[in-house]
Amino acid sequence: MLKSKYIFVAGGVMSGIGKGVAAASIGRILKSKGFKVTAIKIDPYLNVDAGTMNPIEHGEVFVTEDGTECDQDIGNYERFLDENIYDTNYITTGRVFQTVINKERNLEYNGRCVETIPDIPNEAISRIKKATRKNNADFVLIEIGGTVGEYQNILFLEAARMLKMAYPKDVLFILVSYLPIPQTIGEMKTKPTQYAVRSLNSIGIQPDFILARSARPLDEPRKKKISIFCNVPFKNIISAPDIQSIYDIPLNFEKENLGNRILNFFNLRSRKSNLKDWEKMAKSIKESKKSVKIGIVGKYFESGDFTLTDSYISVIEAIKHASSYYNLKPEISWISSEQYEKNPEKLKELKNYDGIIIPGGFGNRGIEGKIKAIEFCRKNKIPFLGLCLGMQLAVIEFARNVCNIKNANSTEFSKNCEPVIDIMEEQKKLLKNKKYGGTMRLGAYNCRLNPDTFSFKAYGNQKIISERHRHRYEFNNNYKEILEKNGMVFAGINPEKNLVEIVEIKNHPFFVGVQFHPEFKSRPLNPHPLFKEFIKTSAKK
Ligand code: GLN
Repeated sequence: MLKSKYIFVAGGVMSGIGKGVAAASIGRILKSKGFKVTAIKIDPYLNVDAGTMNPIEHGEVFVTEDGTECDQDIGNYERFLDENIYDTNYITTGRVFQTVINKERNLEYNGRCVETIPDIPNEAISRIKKATRKNNADFVLIEIGGTVGEYQNILFLEAARMLKMAYPKDVLFILVSYLPIPQTIGEMKTKPTQYAVRSLNSIGIQPDFILARSARPLDEPRKKKISIFCNVPFKNIISAPDIQSIYDIPLNFEKENLGNRILNFFNLRSRKSNLKDWEKMAKSIKESKKSVKIGIVGKYFESGDFTLTDSYISVIEAIKHASSYYNLKPEISWISSEQYEKNPEKLKELKNYDGIIIPGGFGNRGIEGKIKAIEFCRKNKIPFLGLCLGMQLAVIEFARNVCNIKNANSTEFSKNCEPVIDIMEEQKKLLKNKKYGGTMRLGAYNCRLNPDTFSFKAYGNQKIISERHRHRYEFNNNYKEILEKNGMVFAGINPEKNLVEIVEIKNHPFFVGVQFHPEFKSRPLNPHPLFKEFIKTSAKK
């Protein structure tokens, strides 16, 4: 095995320029050259994890197999590397400080003064090493969240610098920077990137590569300029223009021979990469013509005047993966459920879609509108996939409108109701003691499938599957008999705790609600079976 190599990826000029996807793409390339690769995300916020943050502000909360609620970039790493990423690979300021303070309280620093520097960076380094060992990695990509020049991530940049000092030959720095083309000037400007490099320099880091994000490809004069002013070899300035699909990025980087340049930097010999399957998938995502129209009825996408779709990123990617499998081009529309509460007339518009998804969510807002949308899909035979909250609302809708339990609801939304969805026993105490962080039913659980269901067929007749969870509420088994009598099918059950995991209805082209989040396990080269079945049926409509 190779001595592990560390590749730090930091961002310059502004956030949201695709650092995570860039790092993940490099990972894909190195993996395709036969190396063992893993990726670490460092988030500079004080939250211990992403579980307590509002998705509008932070984007989707991604959940790992071992139940960590983390940043959506971990989702990108799983999708691009086609590997599971575990808790060890997610580092936040909150986690690092928590450990250091706990150690101090336990006298583990032997009575000496514990200081921000070097004790905080040292803890970050020890976490990076732990993740490296656990994954037996040849290459470790470490994405430092935020932008260089801000205070938030400085302790992690310090950790990177210290690691470089300890292993000068095994650490590489990449700056993903942005080059604006202001409309009034009409020219690509390099100065903000020069400043970003200067702020890195001032903390003792010299980038070895610059990935230049911009609307257009970088031309030669600007490459030269960046090279001279930023002190980076010309050949290590990689153009990263805007593209139609993120899945093209590894292919574009390969065109610039980035993979071998990285190997050569570490004094390793060039190797051929094998991106054939990836290329085929990326091509299908880009070039499929026949469209399938999917509506997502949710609420976490309005931010002022902008529609942000980051809250549902894994759902969107899962739709893309499944569609590309059938050479379909997904057209995704964002439907705010609240409008159906004020104006049920509008529900008719759902007929314009080939399939409807109701994704996960928390709290009261928009709930009744979603229930109306589900009723409409059920009655009008529009393919429906309910994810977590979407499944719970499908149960409520069925109880109210088919079983005539008028007051049916979830105790999350109403205390005086027929609780067809109820809080899980072990969750009650946690909430009472205000234990909100990392306490939901999280991570992978088994589910036994019943034959003769959409789900059994979708999963290729497997008896036991495993999926990832993130919720506090559950189907209430006291209502199982009456719902079943009225035609609800309980297609999947968690065998250990006898919990309902999948509900379906018959005499419908596709109506499936799942208590778990299948979107977290969909991979571009391995689309999720339920999404595949849902997209296939939707396309037939
Ligand atoms: N709010 C619901 C619960 O806690 C659903 C959560 C979700 O959709 N992830 O059970």
